[in-house]
Amino acid sequence: MDIESVFNFCQINLRARQMVCAVRGYQTTINHALAAICATLRTKIAKWFTLHELFDVLCTRDCHLCGGFGGFIFLPLFMRCCLPCVQTAPQLVQVRHDFPTQFASRFKFRVRGGYRS
Ligand SMILES: [Zn+2]
Repeated sequence: MDIESVFNFCQINLRARQMVCAVRGYQTTINHALAAICATLRTKIAKWFTLHELFDVLCTRDCHLCGGFGGFIFLPLFMRCCLPCVQTAPQLVQVRHDFPTQFASRFKFRVRGGYRS
Protein backbone atom coordinates (compact mmCIF):
# COMPACT_ATOMS: atom_id res chain seq x y z
CA MET A 1 0.00 0.00 0.00
CA ASP A 2 1.45 3.39 -0.91
CA ILE A 3 2.27 6.01 1.74
CA GLU A 4 -0.66 8.27 0.87
CA SER A 5 -3.13 5.36 1.08
CA VAL A 6 -1.70 4.29 4.44
CA PHE A 7 -2.29 7.72 5.92
CA ASN A 8 -5.75 7.95 4.40
CA PHE A 9 -6.52 4.50 5.81
CA CYS A 10 -5.34 5.61 9.28
CA GLN A 11 -7.95 8.35 9.27
CA ILE A 12 -10.84 5.87 8.99
CA ASN A 13 -10.96 4.91 12.67
CA LEU A 14 -8.93 3.75 15.65
CA ARG A 15 -8.94 0.09 14.56
CA ALA A 16 -7.47 1.02 11.18
CA ARG A 17 -4.77 3.05 12.92
CA GLN A 18 -3.98 0.12 15.22
CA MET A 19 -3.69 -2.21 12.23
CA VAL A 20 -1.23 0.12 10.50
CA CYS A 21 0.80 0.58 13.70
CA ALA A 22 1.20 -3.20 13.90
CA VAL A 23 2.94 -3.35 10.52
CA ARG A 24 6.64 -4.10 10.88
CA GLY A 25 8.75 -0.99 10.53
CA TYR A 26 5.86 1.49 10.69
CA GLN A 27 6.68 2.91 14.14
CA THR A 28 10.39 3.06 13.35
CA THR A 29 9.71 4.86 10.09
CA ILE A 30 7.36 7.34 11.77
CA ASN A 31 9.81 7.98 14.59
CA HIS A 32 12.88 8.48 12.42
CA ALA A 33 11.60 9.73 9.07
CA LEU A 34 8.61 11.91 9.79
CA ALA A 35 10.17 14.79 7.85
CA ALA A 36 10.70 12.56 4.79
CA ILE A 37 7.10 11.31 5.00
CA CYS A 38 5.78 14.87 5.27
CA ALA A 39 7.91 15.88 2.28
CA THR A 40 6.51 13.02 0.19
CA LEU A 41 2.97 13.97 1.14
CA ARG A 42 3.48 17.69 0.42
CA THR A 43 5.15 17.05 -2.92
CA LYS A 44 2.43 14.54 -3.92
CA ILE A 45 4.88 11.71 -4.52
CA ALA A 46 3.58 9.68 -1.55
CA LYS A 47 1.42 7.62 -3.89
CA TRP A 48 4.50 6.49 -5.82
CA PHE A 49 6.20 4.72 -2.90
CA THR A 50 5.37 2.38 -0.05
CA LEU A 51 6.35 2.71 3.60
CA HIS A 52 8.29 -0.51 3.17
CA GLU A 53 10.40 1.13 0.44
CA LEU A 54 11.07 4.12 2.72
CA PHE A 55 11.96 1.76 5.57
CA ASP A 56 14.41 -0.09 3.30
CA VAL A 57 16.06 3.19 2.26
CA LEU A 58 16.36 4.23 5.90
CA CYS A 59 18.06 0.94 6.71
CA THR A 60 20.80 1.54 4.16
CA ARG A 61 23.81 3.65 5.00
CA ASP A 62 25.83 4.08 1.84
CA CYS A 63 25.30 6.32 -1.15
CA HIS A 64 23.69 4.36 -3.96
CA LEU A 65 25.97 5.99 -6.54
CA CYS A 66 29.45 6.21 -5.01
CA GLY A 67 29.32 3.94 -1.96
CA GLY A 68 30.32 6.70 0.48
CA PHE A 69 28.24 7.68 3.49
CA GLY A 70 24.80 8.64 2.26
CA GLY A 71 23.43 11.25 4.59
CA PHE A 72 20.50 12.15 2.37
CA ILE A 73 17.55 10.54 0.64
CA PHE A 74 16.89 11.74 -2.90
CA LEU A 75 13.09 11.69 -2.67
CA PRO A 76 12.14 11.56 -6.37
CA LEU A 77 13.94 8.19 -6.61
CA PHE A 78 13.91 7.15 -2.92
CA MET A 79 17.65 6.71 -3.20
CA ARG A 80 20.24 7.11 -0.44
CA CYS A 81 22.91 9.57 -1.59
CA CYS A 82 25.70 11.80 -0.36
CA LEU A 83 26.00 15.57 -0.77
CA PRO A 84 28.71 15.48 -3.48
CA CYS A 85 26.53 13.16 -5.59
CA VAL A 86 23.45 15.37 -5.08
CA GLN A 87 25.48 18.33 -6.32
CA THR A 88 27.24 16.68 -9.23
CA ALA A 89 25.72 13.35 -10.33
CA PRO A 90 23.81 13.58 -13.61
CA GLN A 91 21.34 10.94 -12.33
CA LEU A 92 20.23 13.36 -9.62
CA VAL A 93 19.78 16.47 -11.74
CA GLN A 94 16.93 18.52 -10.38
CA VAL A 95 14.62 20.85 -12.24
CA ARG A 96 13.77 24.08 -10.46
CA HIS A 97 10.11 24.57 -9.62
CA ASP A 98 9.99 27.73 -11.73
CA PHE A 99 11.53 26.06 -14.79
CA PRO A 100 8.21 26.02 -16.75
CA THR A 101 7.82 29.76 -16.14
CA GLN A 102 11.35 30.54 -17.23
CA PHE A 103 10.96 28.32 -20.27
CA ALA A 104 7.66 29.95 -21.20
CA SER A 105 8.95 33.49 -20.80
CA ARG A 106 11.94 32.68 -22.93
CA PHE A 107 9.79 31.45 -25.79
CA LYS A 108 6.94 33.95 -25.24
CA PHE A 109 3.98 31.73 -24.32
CA ARG A 110 1.98 31.10 -21.16
CA VAL A 111 2.08 27.91 -19.17
CA ARG A 112 -1.25 26.48 -17.98
CA GLY A 113 -1.74 25.19 -14.44
CA GLY A 114 -0.68 28.14 -12.34
CA TYR A 115 2.66 29.05 -13.78
CA ARG A 116 2.73 32.49 -15.27
CA SER A 117 5.39 34.57 -16.85
ZN1 LIG B 1 27.66 9.55 -3.40
